[in-house]
Amino acid sequence: MNYTALYRKYRPETFDGVIGQDHIVATLKNQIVNGKVSHAYLFTGTRGTGKTSTAKIFARAINCIDSKDGNPCLKCSVCRQLQGNSIDIVEMDAASNNGVDYARDIREKVQFPPVSGKYKVYIIDEVHMLSQGAFNALLKTLEEPPEHAVFILCTTEVHKIPATILSRCMRFDFRLVSVPLLARHIEDIYQKEGIDYDKEAVNAIAVAAEGSVRDSLSIADRCRPVKGKLTYDDVMSILGVSSRRSIAQLAEAVIANDPGKILNGIYDLTRQGKDVGRLAKDLSGYFHDILVVKTCSNSRQLLCLPEDMYNMLQESAETVTTAKLLYAIDCLARLEADLRFALSPVMLLEAMCLRIASSTGEVDVEGLDRRLTRLEQQPSALRSDSMLVVDRTNRQSVWKGVKVAIERLKQPLFSAVWSEVEVEIEGDDFVVKCNKGQYNLIKLQYEQTLREILAGLTQYNLVLREVAPQTEADLDKQLKNLGTDVRFEK
Ligand SMILES: [Zn+2]
Repeated sequence: MNYTALYRKYRPETFDGVIGQDHIVATLKNQIVNGKVSHAYLFTGTRGTGKTSTAKIFARAINCIDSKDGNPCLKCSVCRQLQGNSIDIVEMDAASNNGVDYARDIREKVQFPPVSGKYKVYIIDEVHMLSQGAFNALLKTLEEPPEHAVFILCTTEVHKIPATILSRCMRFDFRLVSVPLLARHIEDIYQKEGIDYDKEAVNAIAVAAEGSVRDSLSIADRCRPVKGKLTYDDVMSILGVSSRRSIAQLAEAVIANDPGKILNGIYDLTRQGKDVGRLAKDLSGYFHDILVVKTCSNSRQLLCLPEDMYNMLQESAETVTTAKLLYAIDCLARLEADLRFALSPVMLLEAMCLRIASSTGEVDVEGLDRRLTRLEQQPSALRSDSMLVVDRTNRQSVWKGVKVAIERLKQPLFSAVWSEVEVEIEGDDFVVKCNKGQYNLIKLQYEQTLREILAGLTQYNLVLREVAPQTEADLDKQLKNLGTDVRFEK
């Protein structure tokens, strides 16, 4: 079956079909209407933004004998001749013909008048690839062009063009095309092709194209559903974007500062074979979307996401500060650069996520000061202190030793909790019996510190055991302890 790529099939034939370059199209049309055509143009901009297409339309429009509002009519004899292979419109690729001979050849041939129309047009693609000698030969032609000659030089890398050439050309900068414009364009084409789609699916394609019309159509091509409707999830899986749901979970874990979930999330995603750089980019994109939800009142239209995904973003936006989001996006951007030199990209990503998770994103001088003080106090408390003599066979002695160590940490809540728990020695285990509240608190905040203190004092393993209150007397005791001045000495 003969299949034409969407990009070729829907290549614009008039200026009205050029997407997102209104500022350029208006000027060019104006020149045609007023008959003020220059001899040399420079079209610059990112790939796929319509430079060559516009050059071809312009080449036909200036020759058309029945041009309408600056557009080629596509019907007159000249337009028809120029649609096929015409020697009046010469398209060359400087990437493959960059030698001085080729430029000299142009210089000679350009002297012959056009066959069918008024102008002979040379479109030179990737002109920055020309050699120095070729540029010199081209310059000679641009300095004294015959009346009928028009040069359109196209390039993605304008900084590589010699200033002498630049000064002879009228320059037009092609912009990246916005997501809504790309999306509308894809929708138009899908409708013409009779393809059924979800709006969110088309939007996802437009986002992935990153401003390039050509990329948007080649992605749209790849995403053509075999049957049925094209959905958002289809596009995501075809593009190989890390499943948005997994990315959302990872972002959630970072926001909630949950190290376990962060490491598991990264493990799951990389195990699926996701590239770490891609992962960092997707994660950064997700934080960006949360930021949009947090700061823009029209975020729903801007993001154009399936409802459940938008709701997820909204929930996240409520639990995180703008400062932290900016910090996360900044960190991940720097990570992308560092990844190229990393021996273990995954570890780098893990470390960065943990760092973002534990930061508020704000430079908090008071907080830094507090943390510094705490760090200064901690080592002495954690060292097995010669002043602290513990009889390791006696549970009361161990319990008290730990109590002194905790007190040195100056964390009243930790001290209070420790005073309330019951302890037992069972074989190699030092069992701490606590109620549900105490258990959760120790587990969440103090387990590691407690473990270190115990290791410094004795050889026992720490075992946390949750014990349900059994008797009324127990309950009574716990009630009494709540918010009261508790004495712990026995
Ligand atoms: Zn015409």
